[in-house]
Amino acid sequence: MSQNNKMEITILSIFPEMFKIITDYGIIKKAIEKGIVKFNILNLRDFTTDKHKVTDKPGYGGRNGMVMLAEPFFRFYDEYEQRNGCKPYVIIPSPEGKTFNNEIARELSQKEKLVFFCGRYEGIDERVKAIADQEISIGDYVLTGGELPAMVIIEVLLRFVPEVVGSRESVENDSFYNGLLDHSHYTKPAEFRGMKVPEILLSGDHKKIEQFRKKDSLLKTILKRPDLFVNKELSFEDKQLLVEIVQELYQRHV
Ligand code: SAM
Repeated sequence: MSQNNKMEITILSIFPEMFKIITDYGIIKKAIEKGIVKFNILNLRDFTTDKHKVTDKPGYGGRNGMVMLAEPFFRFYDEYEQRNGCKPYVIIPSPEGKTFNNEIARELSQKEKLVFFCGRYEGIDERVKAIADQEISIGDYVLTGGELPAMVIIEVLLRFVPEVVGSRESVENDSFYNGLLDHSHYTKPAEFRGMKVPEILLSGDHKKIEQFRKKDSLLKTILKRPDLFVNKELSFEDKQLLVEIVQELYQRHV
């Protein structure tokens, strides 16, 4: 997404009011106010054709729960295409999708317009997938609806949109950005219940602090997420720091 264009996120849900959780608080609220992102939170019932505004019916085959009708999603899709002169980029949060991660979030943050179809009950009629660009799962478990997964995906991708998070540096130092976990964080007081903040952080020596943090981040990743560490491409500096880590650990034990 180019820096000057605002991102537009459209959501189709039977519970549109749930999205206040993200639009009314914190960095996303500020991004809306600054005009960086615009939300269209639509009620799926407004795309139904019957007077009772039905959005789901019992699934075919019996012994099944309710399934969300294909019709309202297709009506939205056709109207969108007519109004905008282009097809929407549709994401369906679904346990069947690719598991969400930072890489997917970064790719999505480049798009100018995104649409989320939120399922409920047994899910959405399979035929709606014909108009979806991606199915995304937020993990190997089942939630009751697509609203929370959509909010998780939106919150993460918006962190990659320029100016949404005040400090670019803080996003780039976060866990997973460079294939490692974040370093430890401390705040005042320097000593709390006998536990001291590592002295180097109080030294004001920025180069040494940077090295200390990098080592902390490497060691944390090795200990807590070895799966991440084995996939990390190590720079020459990383390798030197690893040697120092081993030397320091050795010295502590002799
Ligand atoms: N019958 C479906 C299955 O077993 O795969 C589960 C349907 S779930 C109760 C209802 C909706 O919640 C789904 O259509 C999807 O939109 C959303 N959902 C549930 N778990 C999810 C997950 N792990 N990731 C993304 N979306 C999920």
